Amino acid sequence: MSAPRSAYVHIPFCHRRCFYCDFAVVPLGDRAGGESGPGSTSIATYLDQLLAEIALSPPGPPLATVYIGGGTPSLLTPAQISAVLQSLRRQFGVQQGAEITLEMDPASFDRSTLQALCRAGINRVSLGGQSFDDTVLESLGRRHRRHDLQQCALWLDQALFDGALRSWSLDLIRNLPAQTQSHWMAQLEQALAAKAPHLSIYDLAVEPGTVFAWRQRRGELPLPDDDQAAALMACTSERLERAGFCRYEISNYARPGHASRHNRVYWSGAGWWGFGLGATSAPWGERHARPRTREAYGEWLCQQHRQVDASLERTTAQALPLDDRLLVGLRRHEGVNLQDQALASGWSQSWCDRFLPGLEQRWEAALEQGLLLHEGARWRLTDPEGMALSNQVLVELVCWWETLPADVAGSPSP
Ligand code: SF4
Repeated sequence: MSAPRSAYVHIPFCHRRCFYCDFAVVPLGDRAGGESGPGSTSIATYLDQLLAEIALSPPGPPLATVYIGGGTPSLLTPAQISAVLQSLRRQFGVQQGAEITLEMDPASFDRSTLQALCRAGINRVSLGGQSFDDTVLESLGRRHRRHDLQQCALWLDQALFDGALRSWSLDLIRNLPAQTQSHWMAQLEQALAAKAPHLSIYDLAVEPGTVFAWRQRRGELPLPDDDQAAALMACTSERLERAGFCRYEISNYARPGHASRHNRVYWSGAGWWGFGLGATSAPWGERHARPRTREAYGEWLCQQHRQVDASLERTTAQALPLDDRLLVGLRRHEGVNLQDQALASGWSQSWCDRFLPGLEQRWEAALEQGLLLHEGARWRLTDPEGMALSNQVLVELVCWWETLPADVAGSPSP
C-alpha cells in the first residue's frame, strides 16, 4: 500500500451539541470563539496538542487533500487554521493544487473571515446547513437559522465566482420526523437556488445517548418508514440528476468537476493520516481511532513522545480487510472490482478463485431484483433502487464474510 497523501484533522469544539449528534465534540457555549472569550483557553490548549501530534507523525509524501472537520472548525480564527495548515506543510508538504476543505457552520463566520480563511489556504468549504426550515433547525438543536444559511451561501457563491474557492458543499439532513415529500422537495429547491455545486445528503440516524434517542423512546419521533424513505431518496436523485448533478456516492451529489477528492480517498480504500481527538487514522489501511475525551487524548499524546502509536508505523500495519473495502467501495457510483480489492487486501489468487464465487452467488438475487449491476469485472449498486436498499446487498456481504474460514477472514494470505 502506498503512503497516504491525505490528512483529516479533527477540531472537536462546537457551540452546543445538536440533538441528533454523537460525535466526539466539546460544547463551549454560544458565545465561544477561538481568539478570546469563552472556550478560547480550551481551544488554545487543544491546538498545542494537535500541532504536537502532527509533528510526531512519521514523515510522508506531500499531501494532495486536507480535510479539517469537526465539530465546528469555523470556531477557530483564520490564524489558528493557518497554524494547522503550516504544521502539515512542515511535516509532509502540501502539493500544488491540493484540495483543502474546512467544515463551517452558518452563523459561525462572516464574509471577511471567509476571505481570511481562503488567504490562509482553504479552497473548499463544507457548509453544515442541514435545513432551510427554521422549525426543523430548532428541533435539531441547531444554532443557525435559514437567513444565516442563505447569507453564507451567497458569500460562498461569490468566493467561488471570484476564484478564492474551488468548490463548496452543502450538507442537508433528510428523513426527518414527519417529513413529507413536498417538504423535502422544497428543501432541495432551496439548496439548488443557493447554487451549491456539491450536496451531501444524509438520512437522519438516531444514535444511542442522544436527545433524539430519548425522544424516540417516548414515541415522539415519527420517522418516515422504509418505503417513504426510499421514495424521498428516489425523488432526490431524479431532481438532482435533472439539475446536472452526478450521484458519485450514496450520500454525495456533485456538478461536473466538484466531486470531493478527499471523500474519494475514504471510499477507495487508500490510506489517510488522522489527527486529533476522536479522529480515525488509517495511514496503512487498518483503522485506529484516537481517544474521544480530552483527558484520554492528552494521555495518549504523552505516550506518543515515548513511542509513536503502532498504527502510524508502516512495518506493523495490516492492510484494510476485504469486507471493509467492499462495504465502503459499494457506496461509490463506480462500485467495486472484487478481485482487485481482494488482492489489495492481501488475498492470494487461489483464495480469490475459491471464495469470491460464493459472494457472487449470494448477490444473484440482488442482481435479479435490479439492486446490483455486474458490468465487466465491477459490481455496483443501481441508482436509486440499489442505493435505497443497499442494506440488502450489504447484509449478503456480511453473511458471506462470516462463512469464510478464520484464517481467510482474519489475515492476509501467506
Ligand atoms: S455542529 Fe455538527 S459536530 Fe457539532 S454538535 Fe452539531 S452536528 Fe455535532
